[in-house]
Amino acid sequence: QAKEGGRNTIRFFDIAVQYTIEISARLQVALHGGIARNEFQLFCQAQVGSDEEVTGGEILLRWRHADAGWISPAQFIPLAEETGAIHEIGYWVLLKTCETLVEWSHDPQLAPLTLSVNVSARQFINPNFIPRLQQMLIFTGVNPARLKLELTESIFAIKNTSIVDHMQSLCAQGIVFSLDDFGTGYSSLSYLKHLPFQQLKIDQSFVQGVPEDSDSCAIVQAILSMGHSLGIEVIAEGVETEAQHQFLSQHGCKAFQGFHFARPLALAEFCAMQRGERSPPC
Ligand code: C2E
Ligand code: MG
Ligand code: MG
Ligand code: MG
Repeated sequence: QAKEGGRNTIRFFDIAVQYTIEISARLQVALHGGIARNEFQLFCQAQVGSDEEVTGGEILLRWRHADAGWISPAQFIPLAEETGAIHEIGYWVLLKTCETLVEWSHDPQLAPLTLSVNVSARQFINPNFIPRLQQMLIFTGVNPARLKLELTESIFAIKNTSIVDHMQSLCAQGIVFSLDDFGTGYSSLSYLKHLPFQQLKIDQSFVQGVPEDSDSCAIVQAILSMGHSLGIEVIAEGVETEAQHQFLSQHGCKAFQGFHFARPLALAEFCAMQRGERSPPC
């Protein structure tokens, strides 16, 4: 096969690689200055309960690059993790989220809502992360019970005994931990016993197969029943249809997130929606 492609294939491959490297290099440089240039924006996607009432939202980062336009976090987060820019960006996201929660605490319609923030394993294990988060909690005066941190199963692969201690001390302060993309990574169930997760997020790849694909249905049902037995709340992400919502509800799911309920919105728009306003003043 490689022979058949011959020289042209190799040349094309070289050019493609070269191109990717050049783009990455330029994005890397741009990422570091992105905060100073005000290129990042927080979006928020609603999370709803069993009566479709909004209980909170997930903060989803957006990056508007001067030349390239909007770049998806699926593209720039892995890059930021590689270069270490994730630390600076991650603190910024957390700080803005805490400030938002404090603002919301003065508004009766927004005060009960929680906000979930995605935290990369790399971020969480950085020795500065916990002290800086603690400072941020004090500095902003946020109610920690309104803050959720989403970690993925990649945290399980890290052999670092202080992870449990750090999670436990944050939990004791009221912060909730949610296990994102559940079922796609290192799903060693014993970790669920040792690490204090109060919420599991069923990965959207399983939700999307429901109710047509029997394997997806079986996996979703198993996650729901395991969550219930362990006393861990289960939220389904990526819910796009009423049929998916129905199936999940019928099997005991009480929390949902997905395009079926709401798209991610700029924070100001999210606030306006919650207040039942049209234009975004907040
Ligand atoms: P995630 O945390 O699993 O977030 C869910 C992703 O699914 C989001 O993509 C969201 O826009 C998308 N989504 C929500 N509902 C639906 C639906 O009904 N159908 C489909 N097809 N997709 C849906 P997004 O915003 O592009 O974020 C991608 C990933 O980037 C996130 O996955 C998260 O891992 C990461 N990410 C986003 N913001 C941050 C951040 O501030 N920090 C870190 N470390 N990672 C972030
Ligand atoms: Mg998430
Ligand atoms: Mg997810
Ligand atoms: Mg994901």
